[in-house]
Amino acid sequence: MKVVIVGGGIGGLSLGLSLCAAGLEDIDIYESAPVVRELGVGINVLPHAVRELTELGLQDELSQIGVATADFTYYSRLGQRIWHEPLGIAAGYRWPQLSIHRGELLGVLHRAVLKRLGPDRIHTNHHFSRFGYREDGGVWAEFVGRDAERVVARAESDLLVGCDGIHSSVRNALYPEGDPLRWSGVIMWRGVSQGRPFLSGRSMVNIGSSKRRTVVYPISRSQDERSSSVINWVATCKVSASEMPPQDWTYVAQREEVLKTFADFTFDFLDVVRLIRDAEAIYQYPMVDKDPLPSWDFGRVTLLGDAAHPMHPVGGNGASQAILDARVLARELALRQTIEAGVSAYDSQRRPATAAVVRSNRKAGPHRCQDLVEARAPEGFKDILDVMTRQELEAIADDYKLVTGSEVERLNSRESLSVTALAASESDVSGAR
Ligand SMILES: Cc1cc2nc3c(=O)[nH]c(=O)nc-3n(C[C@H](O)[C@H](O)[C@H](O)COP(=O)(O)OP(=O)(O)OC[C@H]3O[C@@H](n4cnc5c(N)ncnc54)[C@H](O)[C@@H]3O)c2cc1C
Repeated sequence: MKVVIVGGGIGGLSLGLSLCAAGLEDIDIYESAPVVRELGVGINVLPHAVRELTELGLQDELSQIGVATADFTYYSRLGQRIWHEPLGIAAGYRWPQLSIHRGELLGVLHRAVLKRLGPDRIHTNHHFSRFGYREDGGVWAEFVGRDAERVVARAESDLLVGCDGIHSSVRNALYPEGDPLRWSGVIMWRGVSQGRPFLSGRSMVNIGSSKRRTVVYPISRSQDERSSSVINWVATCKVSASEMPPQDWTYVAQREEVLKTFADFTFDFLDVVRLIRDAEAIYQYPMVDKDPLPSWDFGRVTLLGDAAHPMHPVGGNGASQAILDARVLARELALRQTIEAGVSAYDSQRRPATAAVVRSNRKAGPHRCQDLVEARAPEGFKDILDVMTRQELEAIADDYKLVTGSEVERLNSRESLSVTALAASESDVSGAR
């Protein structure tokens, strides 16, 4: 089976590795950028996705560069503690939660693809433009160069997978009537700063509410060795502007605007103002998603990751859900009798699961406890249990784990998605290779 992957981001590279691990090796990845650049700021890989990267043999390398985040705390905008819980191994998972620089995660995946698939399998400077179905059931796809005028390649394959991110051209080709980005009215500013370790040194904190919030966590292991660590921060603000700012991962923000918006965010456990001031660059994005699609099943063409289900970056699920998509698609393709059956099984498992995450993230996912506190106790509280019951707090945290497939017991005990020789021989279907 020959597979063409459009997009060499986290989803596309994870798919290349997952297909290879499942025994499907005729894979080409076409990436629009001139080189696979290690861009972005911090990203979280949740235990359910770390499990998949571990089974792909990458955990040791990732653990060397990321931080195994140990605990998470919600604070109100006044810096009062609302909820605290352990994360990753400390929460009982068999896999850690990793906070990591997106570029470094991409680098690990990229190097593994070069090694396992071969150096000539990633085609950079190839921007997908259109595709068509062949009479024999296969698919052709055309790619243009940077000038967008000249066709630089026409690739033939048995399956085409659009992993080309939030502005996916493959999705546009499948849904030509248009499929707009939905803006929540929230602006996000993101940066990375050198700072003093805070709380446990491996803590993630979320301070504020839907109106103004910061999420902060370290993404380097340097706190083990020095008194300084690389700290990732995200600051979000609900604005009244009706026009959506540009959605461009490299759009640089005005530092003064961020400082003005978060001028009062200095707390005894963390100085957010200082982090904003010290960031080398601050990037700005609108918080956007898209409505869930009615189908990703187009026979020999499908979608994965942000191309399939762009979501608000709540709870670290953007990259994690893309990695899960990759593993499930590879497994289904390897174990089903036909490619069409594999794509259909992938669609029926992953589309409803990710649609639930998109919808939950629109309602602020687990962050909604902060909005409840702000509405019930706008001037602060003496004891959080005067404002919310323990059951309410627990229910919010547990609901989100259920939606994202990350409940401790369920994840620890569920069957592996790896296609082992045993799984293949036990299956009553033969691989469609
Ligand atoms: C430059 C960049 C920086 C980012 N920074 C952050 C961040 O700091 N924090 C965060 O939470 N998320 C960030 N993201 C998004 C995050 O990586 C995704 O939400 C998530 O990992 C899902 O991955 P994905 O592979 O589906 O999409 P992406 O990671 O967006 O990858 C899509 C890939 O497809 C390529 N592509 C796009 N159009 C075409 C085309 N027509 N033909 C061929 N290739 C194409 C893109 O260049 C990109 O490499 C960033 C994405 C990008 C592209």
